[in-house]
Amino acid sequence: MQQLSDSVQFVKGVGPQRLRLFHRCGIFTIEDLLYYFPRRYEDRSHIKPISKLKVGDFETVRGKILTLGVRPTKSKLKIFQLAVSDGTGIIYATYFNQNYLKRFFKVGDEVILSGKVSLFKTLQMNSPDYELISDEKEKIHSGRIVPIYPLTENLNQRFFRKVAKQAVDKYFYLVKDILPPEIKRKENLIDIKEAIKNIHFPQNFLEQEKARERLVFDEFFILQVGIALRRQYLKKISPAKKKEEINKRNLVAQFKKVLPFKLTPAQQKVIKEIEKDIKSRRPMNRLIQGDVGSGKTIIAIYSLLLVLERGSQGAFMAPTEILAEQHYWTLQKLLLPLNINIGLLISELSAKIKKETLRKIREGEIDIVVGTHSLIQKDVEYKDLGIVIIDEQHKFGVEQRRQLRKKGIAPHCLIMTATPIPRTLALTVYSDLDISVIDELPEGRGNIFTYWIEEEKRMKLYNFIREEIQKGRQAYIVYPLIEKSEKMDLKDVQENFQKLKKIFSDFNLGLLHGRMSKAQKDEVMHYFAQKKIDILVSTTVIEVGIDIPNAGIMVIENAEHFGLSQLHQLRGRIGRGPFKSYCFLLGEPKTEEGIKRLNSIVSSQDGFQIAEDDLRLRGTGEFFGERQHGLPELKIGDILKDVRIMERAKNEADELVKRDYHLLLPEHQLIKRELRRRLGERWDLVSVG
Ligand code: ADP
Ligand code: MG
Repeated sequence: MQQLSDSVQFVKGVGPQRLRLFHRCGIFTIEDLLYYFPRRYEDRSHIKPISKLKVGDFETVRGKILTLGVRPTKSKLKIFQLAVSDGTGIIYATYFNQNYLKRFFKVGDEVILSGKVSLFKTLQMNSPDYELISDEKEKIHSGRIVPIYPLTENLNQRFFRKVAKQAVDKYFYLVKDILPPEIKRKENLIDIKEAIKNIHFPQNFLEQEKARERLVFDEFFILQVGIALRRQYLKKISPAKKKEEINKRNLVAQFKKVLPFKLTPAQQKVIKEIEKDIKSRRPMNRLIQGDVGSGKTIIAIYSLLLVLERGSQGAFMAPTEILAEQHYWTLQKLLLPLNINIGLLISELSAKIKKETLRKIREGEIDIVVGTHSLIQKDVEYKDLGIVIIDEQHKFGVEQRRQLRKKGIAPHCLIMTATPIPRTLALTVYSDLDISVIDELPEGRGNIFTYWIEEEKRMKLYNFIREEIQKGRQAYIVYPLIEKSEKMDLKDVQENFQKLKKIFSDFNLGLLHGRMSKAQKDEVMHYFAQKKIDILVSTTVIEVGIDIPNAGIMVIENAEHFGLSQLHQLRGRIGRGPFKSYCFLLGEPKTEEGIKRLNSIVSSQDGFQIAEDDLRLRGTGEFFGERQHGLPELKIGDILKDVRIMERAKNEADELVKRDYHLLLPEHQLIKRELRRRLGERWDLVSVG
């Protein structure tokens, strides 16, 4: 008796040689093969008369073999050729260096050919896929809708398709249905056995669609059951909140008095939402989404103060040292009148200072600690961590977030990002987060003009920068590399800094990159903030968060090298003051995608729009690397397009978990097994904000 867990070697056609190739595709068992889905389909079911063929199109014809043979050419290549007629005309099928094919055909045989039609004296198809017609055999490669699989080298479609067909025909009946019948009925889903058959070899596209719907539903359903279980579990372990001793200092009221500007209505709304969370007895778990420059830092400060008033500490984590440092100084400056102790924890501290800082955090002398991922290192212990704030969360992984949270007893958690979260992710990874949106910029902002300019205009650009600096502005010039590299034909910051120093000899230039010492970096950022440096020549270390409102020019060299979100973030360094700002992109993209990227950034300033373009250009895989979202890789579901199915799967999963939290009912045993198998240990991470 064969089982789905048996080696794929049991499938006819898979010998020891080929086995390796299957392994390389992640196919070890028969079940893996059945769940290895086509990437796309080709509709080869419409057979055309040869007389009606259009040159250049992909077409399918059916006819009898008139002649066949191997033809030598002037070069050493040999061509195997078939002449096929269907009574309306003749077409030649040619195969280069595949003489072995001649064994398979005889004059008079009936064949179906699918391929691109070309005209070279006669009508031709170059290496068309073929199918010999015989009454007893079902067609696989032609004359039907044909699956095309994502394959590695050396594994060809024809061979794989044949093996897949063998496996589907012989083993599909073994596939087990994980869904309880009432869910299947309610959601109007087809049987899993049918779905497996039809996802590989559908008779028509409606069948294929229904099959896909079923399989996507299953995939999402398992994920959502995992998330629902996790959510239940977290509810149980959240300890009752400790007695809160409200501090008499009333920090928030004091802070409001010293705030140098008026909050935007969007900021006020978000702060109200946070206040409500913190005053409630359950830990806050909130995501703040606001475009670059929308003023998220102030929100963070408010939240910190609200928790400090209740007698706890706060931690504020940023992805880079430079940003952590900037936040540290912003807090120092704004909170000076409030008499709060603020600490900085980054990896580059001297051992002595670090030890002292750690002690102060442990003993509660430090109220707020700002830092990088140093904040989650083992040696950091907090006296009473009441809130964790994570800035630019898209730069962190799920795991880091979780670790920071674990440093306190159910602390409030606020995460901030400029990258919009698609609805599907809101339903999965972020499903236990409340989301607040800052949907407006402070007044007078967003006044950025973006130009993609040609190399010939470089001198003109430099003159323009000169004029702007004379008006009092400052500029960033960003390069992709620190040092010249043999491997990459990209500009580097070190060499160009020297060149720029000559060109702008009448101004002050500063150099900044990740390999400088902390003291050097501090000095440069400090001088730039104080306007002692006019032009900051930098790598992308300034990409996120840096806030120097007087800087009005951003030049990005080799702009084609950067991703869309990155370009948007870089541009977000300017336009932070009440004057016009200018972003210049220099670069010559070699791909169409690269051109689209630059056009997108030129034509839009809207972070949502840009994130959408980014997704479309890059695909979800890269946009949401697994590290970032913590979701297992999806086999068939599309995290962007299948939102509706995700919602349905979530509703059903929530209900099921409500009824049977421990998955004890016999009809839920297969779900439990799948949960372990598909999500493995990872499902523990899913849905942790
Ligand atoms: P981001 O959302 O990108 O983190 P920041 O918090 O760095 O934005 O804020 C951008 C700049 O706008 C900072 O200089 C900040 O002081 C300023 N800012 C924030 N809120 C307001 C406001 N309501 N009015 C005027 N300026 C503001
Ligand atoms: Mg910020």
